Amino acid sequence: PRSGYCATTATFISKRQPVPLPPNTSIDITTFISARPHLNNTAFIDAATGNTLSYSAVWAAVESLSFSLSSMGVKKGHVVLILSPNSIFFPIVCLSVMSLGALITTTNPLNTKHEIAKQVADSKPILAFTTRELVPKLVDSGVPIVLIAEERVPSDLGGNPTVKIVGTLDELVKAEPGEKPRVKERVGQNDAAALLYSSGTTGASKGVISSHRNMIAMVQTVINRFRLDEEGEAYRTFVCTVPMFHIYGLVAFATGLLAAGATVVVLSKFEMNDLLLAISKYKVSYFPLVPPILVALVNHADQIKKKYDLSSLRRILSGGAPLGKELIEGFAAKFPGVAILQGYGLTESTAIGASTDSLEESRKYGTAGMLSPSMEAKIVDPDSGRALGVNQTGELWLRGPSVMKGYFNKPEATASTLTPDGWLKTGDLCYFDEDGFLFVVDRLKELIKYKGYQVPPAELEALLLTHPNIADAAVIPFPDKEVGQFPMAYVVRKAGSSLSENQVMDFVATEVAPYKRIRRVAFVDSIPKNASGKILRKDLIKIATSGSKL
Ligand code: AMP
Repeated sequence: PRSGYCATTATFISKRQPVPLPPNTSIDITTFISARPHLNNTAFIDAATGNTLSYSAVWAAVESLSFSLSSMGVKKGHVVLILSPNSIFFPIVCLSVMSLGALITTTNPLNTKHEIAKQVADSKPILAFTTRELVPKLVDSGVPIVLIAEERVPSDLGGNPTVKIVGTLDELVKAEPGEKPRVKERVGQNDAAALLYSSGTTGASKGVISSHRNMIAMVQTVINRFRLDEEGEAYRTFVCTVPMFHIYGLVAFATGLLAAGATVVVLSKFEMNDLLLAISKYKVSYFPLVPPILVALVNHADQIKKKYDLSSLRRILSGGAPLGKELIEGFAAKFPGVAILQGYGLTESTAIGASTDSLEESRKYGTAGMLSPSMEAKIVDPDSGRALGVNQTGELWLRGPSVMKGYFNKPEATASTLTPDGWLKTGDLCYFDEDGFLFVVDRLKELIKYKGYQVPPAELEALLLTHPNIADAAVIPFPDKEVGQFPMAYVVRKAGSSLSENQVMDFVATEVAPYKRIRRVAFVDSIPKNASGKILRKDLIKIATSGSKL
């Protein structure tokens, strides 16, 4: 069949209309062409200041910033780092960098200087965009810095010998085009556009190479999902509080929704009061979020409804982590006029692999949705490697135009995640029902997701092993209603040590970003491992959640 389940190949084929990939062009041009009918609309509103950017202002800024970057020597294949909270300028930086065939790499502003240094060492950016407040995190990195949201380089930063500030975004956007014609290399669909970090199924964070084709496929998916009505709803307003440094925010706000002609109200970070004020002030209709925000909305629904006018809200878009049935029902009871649409995906699939797109689809409670256009899937038995059928649970494999090119400089990790014929092993345990809806049952891979943020256990285990009183350690996800999961450590103390739980937690807290902190510790005599020395995490998770002892 052209769609649905094909028993001969044991493949699930998307039931959605395939989206055309435009001929060989880059992500910035695709976005621009698609947004052309909306040039006079407002693209972005800064919720804090009320400043707005029209579509034509965004394109003009992208055009002149890419000119300035190319005169500064940014070329195809170079990497440019953006270390910034959400901002109306974030998408401009991303699109300008990509337009030159250079790669944008992003990082969580909550990360420590040390964590950022690791990413800098791996990705070797030739330039970084950051804010004045975040400059200290790049001190001694050696990366030249462009400041976002400053008119000029502040005098106290200009003379600092440990940082090299080369200008401000404002100056680069306003710079007069020089005499020399711009030499812009041709950027093709197979060229890399982004390098976002994900730990994948195992180990530490790795750079995920997303190509222009990957991003374009996702833009088409987003346009398809939020196609603007011909009339009636002239254009829609979204609120952006999910981080733009994550693939979810990057795809939605730096490219997809721009291509769809939407208006986006940008909040620099998640703060419930500001968020609800922005929704009522700008009559936001679409609210993309991660499940912990939904939990907070449900828990405080009565006060929220009394205090804020949320009558404009029509759709919640939830993604990045599982959404429980109980939570969906709780929300439906409190906010009957608002439908929840789900999206499932990974950094490695350039965001959406499956989603619910309509009110009707959203009524299938608990589903992560139907496969994105042109996406195929297999459900593979993790033990036998056999491909399974409808209503059978196994590891989800995805194949399609948005599946990454591979991990940056990590051929082994790439080979164990992408099969030679292009299947991406997601590390998620899933099944499809008879109507083609995907259900995510559990996570096979090590990854912990705290409020939708990735916490790679291997990173915390390596850190714990550097403690002089720790002989061995394992880190697992501990389920939590509010945050999804938090990291829990099983620790083997060295002989004679009286290390306490708090000492373990404090030790980790001083070294990592707050969202990676260990929030529960148990001491054991040994860490259960298989014959090849792999930690038996599932056994530990079972013990932790049943409250029994090892
Ligand atoms: P990331 O690369 O940070 O987007 O993390 C991807 C992982 O998040 C997936 O492999 C899933 O384990 C989880 N995830 C994302 N969306 C969903 C969803 N809708 N339901 C369940 N898990 C999800």
